[in-house]
Amino acid sequence: MPIQEIRLFGDPVLITKAVPVVDFDKELRNLVADLTETMLDAPGAGLAAPQIGVGLRVFTWHVDDVLGHLINPVLTLGEEIQEGEEGCLSFPELRYDTPRSLNAVARGFNMFGEPIVVEGTEFLARALQHENDHLDGILFIDRLSALDRKSAMKEIRESEWFNLEIENGRTPTIKDSPHGMFGRNI
Ligand code: ZN
Repeated sequence: MPIQEIRLFGDPVLITKAVPVVDFDKELRNLVADLTETMLDAPGAGLAAPQIGVGLRVFTWHVDDVLGHLINPVLTLGEEIQEGEEGCLSFPELRYDTPRSLNAVARGFNMFGEPIVVEGTEFLARALQHENDHLDGILFIDRLSALDRKSAMKEIRESEWFNLEIENGRTPTIKDSPHGMFGRNI
C-alpha cells in the first residue's frame, strides 16, 4: 500500500516537530518510496513524512522533472527573498504568495545513509524550505503576513474539506495561532 492518505490541516501531526532518522534500514526506504508515490499521485511538487502521519525528518520533491529525497536535512538560506505563490497538499485549494529565500542549500543524507548536498534556487529553494518547515511543525500559513494569514484562516474555516474533516470527527479545535507553486502544491 504505497500511496498513503495525506493528512490535512487540523491533524496534530502537522504541527508536531519530527524526530531525526536513526536507522537507515528497509523501513526507511519504504517510507521514501511511499512519500514519492503519494507525492506523484497527488500530484505534488513535494511531500514531507508528517504529511502522511510519520514523525520522521524525511521529505521528497519533484521539481523540474527531477525526483529527490532528503533525510535529516539542515538548511542554509540565502539572504535574498522571493515572493511567489505557494500551496500545500495539506491545505487543498489554498494558495498564497509566500516569502522565501531565493537560494537554499540543504545538507542531509540519502536513504542509504550517504551524505548529500542539494543546492536550490527559485522553485526548488522554495520547495526545500516548505518541506523542511513541515519537519519542524511549521506550515506555510505561518509564513504569511498577519493580514494574509487571517484571510487564509477564514478560507480554511469555510472550505468544504475542512468542514468534512470536522464532520468526520478528525479535526480538533484550531487555535488561530498554532505557531505549488506553478499549479502544484507542496
Ligand atoms: Zn506542505
